[in-house]
Amino acid sequence: MKILVVNAGSSSLKYQLFDMDENKVIAKGLCEKIGIGAAVTHKRPGKPDYKADVDLKDHDDAIALVLRLLTDPELGVIASVNEIDAIGHRVAHGGKLQSSMFITDEVLHYLESIVGINPLHGPPAIKGINACRKVMPGKPMVAVFDTSFHSTMPPKSYLYALPYEYYEKYKVRRYGFHGTSHRYVANQAAAFVRKPLESLKIITCHCGNGSSITAVNAGKVIDTSMGFTPQEGLPMGTRSGSVDPTVVTYLMREENLTPDQMDDVLNKKSGLLGVSGVSSDMREVGAAAQAGNERAKLALDMLVQSTKKIIGSYIAEMNGVDILLFTAGIGENDRDFRQAVCRNMDYLGIAIDEKYNQSCPRGENVDLSAPGSKVKVLVIPTDEELMIATDTLNLVKNN
Ligand code: ADP
Repeated sequence: MKILVVNAGSSSLKYQLFDMDENKVIAKGLCEKIGIGAAVTHKRPGKPDYKADVDLKDHDDAIALVLRLLTDPELGVIASVNEIDAIGHRVAHGGKLQSSMFITDEVLHYLESIVGINPLHGPPAIKGINACRKVMPGKPMVAVFDTSFHSTMPPKSYLYALPYEYYEKYKVRRYGFHGTSHRYVANQAAAFVRKPLESLKIITCHCGNGSSITAVNAGKVIDTSMGFTPQEGLPMGTRSGSVDPTVVTYLMREENLTPDQMDDVLNKKSGLLGVSGVSSDMREVGAAAQAGNERAKLALDMLVQSTKKIIGSYIAEMNGVDILLFTAGIGENDRDFRQAVCRNMDYLGIAIDEKYNQSCPRGENVDLSAPGSKVKVLVIPTDEELMIATDTLNLVKNN
């Protein structure tokens, strides 16, 4: 069975075509800068990448191009679109929808009804779905939500201590994000240590350009660091993470900022970029810190401290932890970050082999724990697309 996974952003569209019988990706790529002078990169294993500047005015154009590339006599990997059995869409916000599901008109209408609480990621996901529906009508399509893994959180974790009526009226609550990644790596970690997920307390640190940490007890999320939007929790590339909410109203008054302008400050001008003044990219901030830039060093220290704080609080919430794991761009690659987070955590039973942490292979599951560490510390590369393809396959197979 061949499954196309589509991840539509506001000006980008990523795709991967999986051959689920062979358990592999047969083509993948990225359309960037849609609507503003676009470019496409199309990759096939073992073959040279195809890159081109293209004219894509919207997501409809992008999907049409993806299908042309996949079926192109020279660049393609399938003879016709009919070979695609189903499509899995990454949808950042599922609202009340708590598991992956077929996209019916009703589901689509519901997703349209919640764009108000998901203004950045909702509209592009809907555009991606509509574009696929236009050119592949009748093809099974599944939505996999970033929020659904977190739907097991109890009210004491997901409610804000605001007047309850705002939860009732506007569904203002914590939803959590990156759930597809947290679910994938938690399952992988359990398989790696050969124990049932249901027997484990796991803390999953997804640290990338956007970052979140999740506490998974017996396979169920009991708390996560992102909230109503992906803004809450850790400082990120350009997002502030948690701040005293009164800082926001204070700055709006002092700087005469509109809500949109304030959102822009919190989302695009803060985090690593805002503190360091150097970059939102961990590699660049790390290089600047190495070269002696004090604010870059401060930004890194703040990220490490916030990560420790959240890990500590989740250990307290779960009364222990069996596995602490790192994933995503920073978690998988930044050895110094992992070392700094895990240092001085021996009181909590966390100790890594620092030498191995500096030399362990990239791109595979590894165990960093020092001998005698009560907690297993792992690096588990994430694969959200595979999780989306797997959910799509399971739904299609069972219907
Ligand atoms: P996204 O949230 O956009 O999916 P990623 O998970 O790809 O982001 O993570 C991007 C982050 O990972 C960037 O800050 C980047 O600097 C960092 N990163 C990637 N490779 C390395 C590396 N080798 N060392 C340190 N940081 C890295």
